[in-house]
Amino acid sequence: MNTTLSTSQEAQMEQYRIFAREQVAPIAQLLETRQSSLKELLFAAGQKGYMGLSVPKEYGGSNLPFLDVVLFTEQLAYFEPGLGLSLASHTAVIELLKKYGSDNQKSRYLPLLARGECIGAVAFNEAKAGTDFEATETIVSVKDGKSTISGSKTWVVNADICGLIIVLAKSAEGALAMYLVDAPAAKTMIISADKPKLGMRSQSTNDVQFTEHVLPGESALSAGSSTVHEQVLFALDIAKVVMSGAAVGLSEGALECAAEYARTREQFGQSIGNLQAIQWKLADISLDSRASRLLTYRAAWSKDNDTAAFRKNAAMAKAMSARTARLQSAEALQVMGAEGISADSPLERFYRDSKVMEIVEGTSEYQKVLLTKELGI
Ligand SMILES: Cc1cc2nc3c(=O)[nH]c(=O)nc-3n(C[C@H](O)[C@H](O)[C@H](O)COP(=O)(O)OP(=O)(O)OC[C@H]3O[C@@H](n4cnc5c(N)ncnc54)[C@H](O)[C@@H]3O)c2cc1C
Repeated sequence: MNTTLSTSQEAQMEQYRIFAREQVAPIAQLLETRQSSLKELLFAAGQKGYMGLSVPKEYGGSNLPFLDVVLFTEQLAYFEPGLGLSLASHTAVIELLKKYGSDNQKSRYLPLLARGECIGAVAFNEAKAGTDFEATETIVSVKDGKSTISGSKTWVVNADICGLIIVLAKSAEGALAMYLVDAPAAKTMIISADKPKLGMRSQSTNDVQFTEHVLPGESALSAGSSTVHEQVLFALDIAKVVMSGAAVGLSEGALECAAEYARTREQFGQSIGNLQAIQWKLADISLDSRASRLLTYRAAWSKDNDTAAFRKNAAMAKAMSARTARLQSAEALQVMGAEGISADSPLERFYRDSKVMEIVEGTSEYQKVLLTKELGI
């Protein structure tokens, strides 16, 4: 793997940066308070081709490496880290369809997902099935040749704006499978009100309740020669690397806020940027952020080029970049003193968002479980 981006990747990244600066920066705070529409923003991204960066050209996408999804997410998260959640779920849906979808499923959904006309959501989590997703109780029953799904999913990102949800459920015989469920809601599929939470408030997180909701003919996503367990882990690997990109964007955004403050704030007759205590904090933030970025880019690269190492690299990138985001956004906030904790400061939002990153797409503890397995222990 090259540790620097190619000229064309740099040029592509500049386009993502321009989109983020023009479309996200002005509304970052408004997204958090829901005074600006997340759905409209994602649609605008889709119309530029950014919601289908890794979708093959034959399905209307840009056919770029997975790394581009991460670069795009990083640029958006520099201003609004919560967007990483939407992009992680949407990308997991795209990559599941690319890897496991039938020709019909791919041609039905991928072009819509690529254009941002359909947003993807993933519903694995349940009240009793968190990290242990095998404990899923949502059930698919077949009666008179008709399949219906019943059960309750929780913490589903994009549920209220999506066109497609991939739902993990069990058959009556207890076999796990993923099902493609069209949204929006019907009487048999109720989406709850948003669950209030500490951070990433630009993102709605909802419960989704199915009551004998009818599934169309080809709704199961075949695991092929693989297993459903592997399918779920693959979806989480994808989502966690996108989330790592968001964590890097958050750390870089926090660094820029703190550095700008250090340049301009004066105390005791001099810029606080002259104080070694402040300089070392800024140096440490940049050190940890750049290390997280390298791990994240390596993980994204390995998805396309070194599949055997993808799981391990994804776990490392997620654990490291989420921890960096939490620790170093706190340090950036400290550099800014009272200004840092003001609700007017982006850092106050970044600090709250960073904690969520250590939980979503697999907790930091579980990344260590995966890493230990890779060591054969
Ligand atoms: C903002 C947000 C958005 C989310 N979006 C989605 C979504 O779109 N779709 C979806 O399906 N889910 C979503 N989730 C759920 C998320 O995937 C789960 O929160 C996560 O997998 C952890 O599950 P849990 O919260 O039930 O914690 P638990 O699994 O109950 O874990 C509790 C604690 O025990 C630890 N633990 C559990 N098992 C182990 C183990 N084997 N070894 C070591 N430690 C362990 C955990 O690390 C954690 O510290 C979202 C969650 C949040 C907060």
